[in-house]
Amino acid sequence: MFSRLVPGPLVRWFARPYVAGDSLDAALELADKNRRERGVRTTLDLLGEGVLEPHQVEATLKTYRDMIARLSTDPRFTDERPTISVKPSAFTTTAQDEARPRLLEIAQAAHDAGVALTIDMEDRPWTDFTLDLCTELFAQGFDVGIVLQSRLHRTQQDLARIPAGMRCRLVIGIYPEPAEVALTDKHAMKERMLDYAAELLTRGVFVEFATHDIAFVERFARDVAPTAPDRCEVQMLLGVPRREFQKKLTDGDFGPKLPVRLYVPFATSWDDATAYLRRRMKESPSVMWLVLRNFLSRKKR
Ligand SMILES: Cc1cc2nc3c(=O)[nH]c(=O)nc-3n(C[C@H](O)[C@H](O)[C@H](O)COP(=O)(O)OP(=O)(O)OC[C@H]3O[C@@H](n4cnc5c(N)ncnc54)[C@H](O)[C@@H]3O)c2cc1C
Repeated sequence: MFSRLVPGPLVRWFARPYVAGDSLDAALELADKNRRERGVRTTLDLLGEGVLEPHQVEATLKTYRDMIARLSTDPRFTDERPTISVKPSAFTTTAQDEARPRLLEIAQAAHDAGVALTIDMEDRPWTDFTLDLCTELFAQGFDVGIVLQSRLHRTQQDLARIPAGMRCRLVIGIYPEPAEVALTDKHAMKERMLDYAAELLTRGVFVEFATHDIAFVERFARDVAPTAPDRCEVQMLLGVPRREFQKKLTDGDFGPKLPVRLYVPFATSWDDATAYLRRRMKESPSVMWLVLRNFLSRKKR
């Protein structure tokens, strides 16, 4: 409700730290800068879930095609290519099944170009669809990663479906879910992330531990990652101020040196970027205050 009342230009100002810019070029430039200056990896995401019009789906498809083509040929990324992340709901205005051929097309293009893909996990109606699709593509030899949300009780069973060698991003989950099917306490969700990470590593999965809670990331680095450090990565969102902590991870201050990857959303227009932050503000009004706090603390430094 409150997020709808905030004027667009103000939302845009709030969105800036979280969004790479309003073009693919801006996102690629940032990915290159983060790699060169900080040794931090990137996954690129085009903002656009919850599309309403068929032309938006077409535009999303086109941008992903362009993104894949650029990533496969851009000399800046010869050694270390950013991966791409997609949200299934960005590929349909109606039924889920409509998204499937479009996601297959993106997966094929990424595979042909040698670009790794992660299919983000959305709210519960998407869970089975996404799990089925990711595991099917992986079984066909595609470099496709999945996301599991620790808040959902079903995830304990879903772990068993993730094959050795697959990439699995573990998150608490951003979508509010009812207590019958999910935990409601964030601390408990993060404890589960650690348990699930340990279980997945034992089973040969590549674990992408994605949270900004540094106490839990430190526990992951100290207690869990040493069992298979070459199959671990820490992931965070662009804009959350964790630079010094990320350096400690890549330097190995807590145990093995761990790679860090930033999730870098970009838009093709500031209208889309503004819509993205409005959604984030709606899900979590505290986002606004976090951005403001980050901005003020940067000013002080
Ligand atoms: C790389 C990545 C990919 C993700 N992909 C998915 C996905 O596919 N599906 C899905 O459901 N969810 C996804 N998420 C979101 C995730 O599920 C959580 O909602 C989100 O990470 C916030 O939870 P947290 O674990 O960081 O814990 P929190 O308890 O929310 O945050 C930990 C601490 O970090 C700080 N913090 C958190 N957010 C911000 C911020 N915006 N600005 C400044 N400080 C902040 C706060 O100080 C907070 O105390 C992803 C998250 C990341 C990092």
